[in-house]
Amino acid sequence: MIAENYRKVLERIRSAALRAGRDPESIKLVVVTKTWPVEKIIEVIEAGARILGENYVQEALPKIEAIGDKAEWHFIGHLQSNKAKFVVNRFRMIESVDSISLVKELSKLAEKDNTQVDVLVEVNLEGEETKSGVMPEKLSELLREISCYERIKVKGLMTIPPLFSIPEDSRPYFRRLSGLREDILNLNIPNISLDHLSMGMSNDFEVAIEEGATIVRVGTAIFGERK
Ligand SMILES: *Cc1c(COP(=O)(O)O)cnc(C)c1O
Repeated sequence: MIAENYRKVLERIRSAALRAGRDPESIKLVVVTKTWPVEKIIEVIEAGARILGENYVQEALPKIEAIGDKAEWHFIGHLQSNKAKFVVNRFRMIESVDSISLVKELSKLAEKDNTQVDVLVEVNLEGEETKSGVMPEKLSELLREISCYERIKVKGLMTIPPLFSIPEDSRPYFRRLSGLREDILNLNIPNISLDHLSMGMSNDFEVAIEEGATIVRVGTAIFGERK
């Protein structure tokens, strides 16, 4: 079941890419494993999954311990600075960076471990103060600040639009993130590369691909509804 769902999602990614005139190989699938136990995660790895996404540090650590480097892990949830020490060297990418205090902490840890940390900056396109992510109007300022931290490598942008029942309703948000990427690229900020746009989940990943997503994060379409 999981293996079959995984293959169906891959096929839908492929079709969406071809429809949009894009190379299917240019799109990465992050399989979101939050709430699912190790046995289920092993099933999806055996089906071919190579990148897994987790939202909570406490939940992720035992899974990473059990599964190790059979997969690459992306942190996709809100990360508090005091938890940063658990993610450096365990997660290949932190997709949800939205504050300079977190960057400072990650940088300190990377320095200590003589490593670097790949991150995406999460953008809050709704402008609701309660949600995580940096406001679009503050994005360039944050990126300029991050660019001073040599060990923090910005690889792109991430967003989580509001939940819609109709996938098409997410399109303006995805288009907006693509536009922001273009605007920022024009600023030529040193040490910042924006190869990746992480956008699109089970309900709307095909629309996201049409709008330029290079990373889609999919849970429910593979594992079923979370309890
Ligand atoms: C849970 C989650 C997903 C996956 O959502 P589905 O609708 O289950 O595909 C993707 N991204 C983030 C940040 C999430 O928290």
